[in-house]
Amino acid sequence: MRLLRRKDLVCRDAVQLMSDYLEDALSSRQRARLESHLADCPHCSEYLRQMQTVMRAVGHVEPDDLSASAREELVAVYRRWRAA
Ligand SMILES: [Zn+2]
Repeated sequence: MRLLRRKDLVCRDAVQLMSDYLEDALSSRQRARLESHLADCPHCSEYLRQMQTVMRAVGHVEPDDLSASAREELVAVYRRWRAA
């Protein structure tokens, strides 16, 4: 039995891929999965935009910083999205 059958990323997984995505460090397969999630997920798209803004400002996103703050940020974005 293979768990890989479940192809859809959950938001938590998508957020974890985003720092590598922005640094162009994903495999083409991971990138395709993330992009397909982003296409369907307004709050992850919004979050990626915010991260791109941070990247432009500081030139780099530390994966450790990101994993620490990403959850809270995503929850905030998600709550705004749900409330809208
Ligand atoms: Zn998502």
